[in-house]
Amino acid sequence: MDAEDFPTNRYIVQGLAEQRGLRLVRLPSELDGGLDLDALRSALNGDVVLVVLSLVSYRSGALLDMAQVNDLAHAVGARVVWDVSHAAGAVPVDLAGAGAELAVGCTYKYLNGGPGSPAFLYVRRDLQSRLRQPVWGWYGQRGQFEMGPDYDPVPGIERFLVSTPPLVSLAAIDPALALVEEAGLARIRAKGLRLGRLADDLADAWLTPLGFRPASPRPPERRGSGSHLSCTPDAWRICQALAADAKVVCDYRVPDRLRIGLSPLVTRFTDVWDALARMRDVVAEGAYASRPAGLARVT
Ligand SMILES: *Cc1c(COP(=O)(O)O)cnc(C)c1O
Repeated sequence: MDAEDFPTNRYIVQGLAEQRGLRLVRLPSELDGGLDLDALRSALNGDVVLVVLSLVSYRSGALLDMAQVNDLAHAVGARVVWDVSHAAGAVPVDLAGAGAELAVGCTYKYLNGGPGSPAFLYVRRDLQSRLRQPVWGWYGQRGQFEMGPDYDPVPGIERFLVSTPPLVSLAAIDPALALVEEAGLARIRAKGLRLGRLADDLADAWLTPLGFRPASPRPPERRGSGSHLSCTPDAWRICQALAADAKVVCDYRVPDRLRIGLSPLVTRFTDVWDALARMRDVVAEGAYASRPAGLARVT
């Protein structure tokens, strides 16, 4: 896996490897540019059973070539689990067309489900009856309400269910997905690219002179829908001042970056303009310097 992947992904794989006595290989990757496919290529050999990668990096937005990675892994007999959390709803993802077998993701980023909304998984149809959910719960059971003595999962995708779904979150995800469907991924992506270009241009004009540095691949075609800026050493203080004084809410991500989430369905071009102008003003005025350096529980 990518040594810079999202923490849960790394910890889950680490836990599984430890339980099963398997060896975990962490590929060093560029914080701004994402995983280099040559690093992946040289790590792949007949011993590799599983590759776990995020299609869009949470820390830089770098977008991988899904089909190419699948081809590389399949050539040595390895399977790939894709985390598409930062891609779903922002970037068209053709899982079947790119030869993907397995994918997981959350619905609370560009799919607008809100925190705690349901996760999803994709298992290519021919693999569904061959792979098992490691957590054996009654929702995956054949004849669920017969309450049988032993776990005997249904053959299809429902075998990956565990227990009663969160109904309020499920109800909220329906209209959220309906909006995405109505707009269509092609149009969402097209607007996302234009938002990204505007953010890049304004950052170059207003923020680079103040000590910022682009921390995502360019042009926007090479990334998901966010724009990431690095500002050493003050990014966390600036992030706090932006939220408190300028009503601009970014994410701070270690070690030195601000993540600007450009959500094409709801973010307007004027929002990008205003947010970056306020960022410029907050930094130029310097009041952020009195904010605490210690990280909050959530950044
Ligand atoms: C947000 C995110 C998740 C989901 O995190 P949870 O809080 O565990 O739901 C998973 N992977 C990536 C890459 C993410 O960015």
